[in-house]
Amino acid sequence: MNLHEYQARAILAAHGLPFPPGDVAASPEAARDIAARLGGSVVVKAQVHAGGRGKAGGVRLARDTAEAGEVAAALLGMRIKELPVRQVLVVRAVSVAAERYIGITLDRAAARPVLIVSPAGGIDIEEVATRAPEQLFRALIDPRYGLLPHQASGLAFRLFADIAHVRAAADLMTRLAVAFEARGAALAELNPVALTADGQLVALDAKLVIDDNELPRHPALATLRDTADEPPAETAARGAGLSFIQLDGAVGCCVNGAGLAMATLDLVQLAGGRPANFLDIGGSSNPDKVAAALGILGRDPAVRVILVNIFGGITRCDDVARGIVAATTARPLGVPLVIRLTGTNEAEARALLTAAGFQTEAEMEDAVRRAVALAGP
Ligand code: GDP
Ligand code: MN
Repeated sequence: MNLHEYQARAILAAHGLPFPPGDVAASPEAARDIAARLGGSVVVKAQVHAGGRGKAGGVRLARDTAEAGEVAAALLGMRIKELPVRQVLVVRAVSVAAERYIGITLDRAAARPVLIVSPAGGIDIEEVATRAPEQLFRALIDPRYGLLPHQASGLAFRLFADIAHVRAAADLMTRLAVAFEARGAALAELNPVALTADGQLVALDAKLVIDDNELPRHPALATLRDTADEPPAETAARGAGLSFIQLDGAVGCCVNGAGLAMATLDLVQLAGGRPANFLDIGGSSNPDKVAAALGILGRDPAVRVILVNIFGGITRCDDVARGIVAATTARPLGVPLVIRLTGTNEAEARALLTAAGFQTEAEMEDAVRRAVALAGP
């Protein structure tokens, strides 16, 4: 789950991380009030779930209160990477002497969190990773001990020469590691951490992604989800208890089991098609879930064909068939359906579907080829 910068700041500030003062606003008037309270120059920042806001014109300096209102009005009317800006963060402007990158994410290969820092902060860290990988420094965090003091100071020396700045950076890394663990984060990133003209370290940007699997342990964090920035299909799928990820192709995929779902996406791609989504209806054989899944895919204007791929184990094919029949009789899907079922209660499923006028496939490759052909170029 993505959090907005203003939400990430509030959470990380509670762990003692330093941010310039500021507040979030949904109108130019509110932004002006905040700027008046802060006094002097402010930075007005679009709050959308997209990186690279600075480059897209979503981060702007305002020299006084009136300008803060004007800048906020301009930002609140714009879209960044398609996403409408509904809120802006207004923060006191800082005079920056140097910018650094400090972030923690999961290293899946090492099965541990990894702290990554770079003296080349401010710009896209992905660009640094590809063009100047020697500018990235990392330390794996052992979950038994957390980030150790020598790891923090070792990396801090990569960022600063002055010992006072090194100490401050190490303290910041330690706090970030504690926050990452305590909040069930999948990513916690400060880019840039600025060294100010008067020698202080302060985070000018915060990105926090909470691991969805941690949300049941953090009910307060779950309430921070902003569904306005999500594809509507993802919101609907979460409500129906489906594991769903929106992709950008035309072949809607309804599959049981994450492994089979991944394999299905690969096969669609291999057959020259583009999957519209990842969707795992789960191991249960609840007809309502199948009906909900088909409804969600059917409402997506990008979907030109729906491919149902079921390997019946615990999932019973006849229950899936009942879901398909229920979903299509309640409301026509509007797109062709290609159904491949095999496994538990396969014969009953075929009988049900044939009676309802559907053709079924037994082989996954055949089903995928037919779906890709139906989706068209
Ligand atoms: P992003 O582009 O979405 O990562 O947005 P950021 O919040 O990181 O802002 C982009 C850039 O704006 C930063 O890398 C800084 O260089 C600059 N910036 C943000 N706040 C300030 C500030 O208070 N003072 C100065 N001088 N620059 C700032
Ligand atoms: Mn940034």
